[in-house]
Amino acid sequence: MHTIDVRSDTVTQPTPAMREAMFTATVGDDVYGDDPTVVELERQAAVRLDKEAALFVPSGTFGNQLALYTHCNRGDEVILGDDCHIVWHEAGAAAVIAGVQLRTVESRKGVLDAAAIEQRIRVGEDIHWPRTGLICLENAHSNGRVIPLEAMQAVCQVGRRHKVPVHLDGARVFNAATALGCDVREITRYADTVMFCLSKGLAAPVGSILAGPADFIARARRHRKLLGGGLRQAGVLAAPGLVALNEMTRRLAEDHGNARYLAEQLAQLPGIEVQLDDVQINMVWFRFSGHVYTTALMASLADAGILANPPENGMMRFVTHWQVGRAEVDRVVAAVAAYLAGAQ
Ligand SMILES: *Cc1c(COP(=O)(O)O)cnc(C)c1O
Repeated sequence: MHTIDVRSDTVTQPTPAMREAMFTATVGDDVYGDDPTVVELERQAAVRLDKEAALFVPSGTFGNQLALYTHCNRGDEVILGDDCHIVWHEAGAAAVIAGVQLRTVESRKGVLDAAAIEQRIRVGEDIHWPRTGLICLENAHSNGRVIPLEAMQAVCQVGRRHKVPVHLDGARVFNAATALGCDVREITRYADTVMFCLSKGLAAPVGSILAGPADFIARARRHRKLLGGGLRQAGVLAAPGLVALNEMTRRLAEDHGNARYLAEQLAQLPGIEVQLDDVQINMVWFRFSGHVYTTALMASLADAGILANPPENGMMRFVTHWQVGRAEVDRVVAAVAAYLAGAQ
């Protein structure tokens, strides 16, 4: 019985094609700029996102923080949603690295109100005021929802009107494009710079991409070095990144379908409330209507060979990815049903 890991899509193992690509990758020294596999990944990523240039970075957090650091001066203000990854899950890095102040707007399930953002932009100069350096959006949101294009467009227009750049935390932007049924460029056109993860659902072992205007990426390349992110024979990591970009972006609908199937199966179990509206990509959120015996629940799952995160504030999240197909979903559902039977 193989283990099924539904904690996140960050747990994905590299595919056989990725391991083969790593084994045979041509490499150089990317700090000299002569690792052909990294150069090719950056070229293809820029084309795919419809940006002038792209940069391979070690992680999504690195890419986001590099964007803040490169867009902003110390003391600038960054306007972003109050539940976004940069605010919640990046260890306060914005204060440490870019030295910026985060100014939040209310997120309505990930959607930001363009008027609320505009209201926070500092117009003109006042010696008391920070300057507005950047607006950040997130799509798909890490709450599993996809932000509609119109909402992104409205924020983009506010940014353009005030000459404030927009950065997109697109860790799962290909999931968003898959869910919206559009080309990823239809999303990235509403941001000046974009970060996306080659790891997560795209299954590369390491790495993210930061893309944007050529002069921005040139400055980001210097800042990446400053932060210790200049990698040498990085072609062994860019090679699976190319597989992620070219093959894995095309199969995400399968993960979304499996998440939907998982949500529907769980919803049929008595004692479970699934947030079906929130199943837009590869994440399923649910709670138990009765008391959760966390130890018993985790034991039921472990007995069935399932790795899951325990509930947080009563809410559980299961994530599908290329290693969680229909058969695995059925096993997960059976294990939850077994817990419920025991909890009666
Ligand atoms: C995972 C994630 C990141 C950070 O990526 P890491 O590679 O884990 O540092 C940033 N933003 C969002 C929305 C994410 O889901």
